[in-house]
Amino acid sequence: MKLVFLGPPGAGKGTIAAKAKDVYSIPHISTGDLFRDNIKRETELGKKVKAILAAGDLVPDEVTIAMVKDRLASDDASNGFILDGFPRTIAQADALETISSLDKVVNFVLDKEDIIRRLSGRRVCKSTGRTYHILYNPPKVEGIDDETGEPLIQRDDDKEEAIRNRLEVYEASTAPLISYYREKGLLVDIDASASPDEVLKSMVDALR
Ligand code: ADP
Ligand code: ADP
Repeated sequence: MKLVFLGPPGAGKGTIAAKAKDVYSIPHISTGDLFRDNIKRETELGKKVKAILAAGDLVPDEVTIAMVKDRLASDDASNGFILDGFPRTIAQADALETISSLDKVVNFVLDKEDIIRRLSGRRVCKSTGRTYHILYNPPKVEGIDDETGEPLIQRDDDKEEAIRNRLEVYEASTAPLISYYREKGLLVDIDASASPDEVLKSMVDALR
């Protein structure tokens, strides 16, 4: 199964992808996670993109496309994948067409108030990337990762000003992909407002 997860930041793409990867036995490829891993390891790529991520802007297409092309060439992606957060521009979508076919594009639909509630309450474990929410998916002990025991942090780009910018960037650059993929007959709309398990179930049913 070759899937793209589309939708605004905070819609729950990463949360559902972390579950769906086991349902379909395919890797969850998040461009945001790949960039954050490079930043943590202080690679050349990480140095190049650090300020861009903090501001909530998009990394240039050629850098992002090269990184995804490389990742999709790995053995584990040969039977399928979930691309979470890519493509985010028409140019990236056009490039993806030359790299791989797709089975479906899942569009996670959520209204703006819920998006802001989800993003502003999101907390992550820096070393594993595991995601929580202070109200909707709290850790067992406040502020502490359930498995590693490390302190949870708020991403720089989940602070108010960067959230505002990311929503504008989404509307301007990424939302046009909804009609792009609808016209190709690939789009499946999913109501992302229910609980994670319900969202997963409606997606699996819709993809059947
Ligand atoms: P995205 O990958 O689309 O940016 P995430 O999966 O990181 O979104 O989810 C954003 C925040 O919302 C996280 O704090 C997550 O725990 C929470 N969340 C995700 N899905 C749901 C859901 N179905 N209901 C309530 N909260 C959710
Ligand atoms: P969210 O789902 O909360 O928006 P991601 O983890 O998907 O966050 O992305 C975090 C950041 O990484 C983005 O705001 C952007 O700076 C960068 N990024 C991720 N994917 C792409 C992409 N396909 N093109 C350009 N920049 C990207």
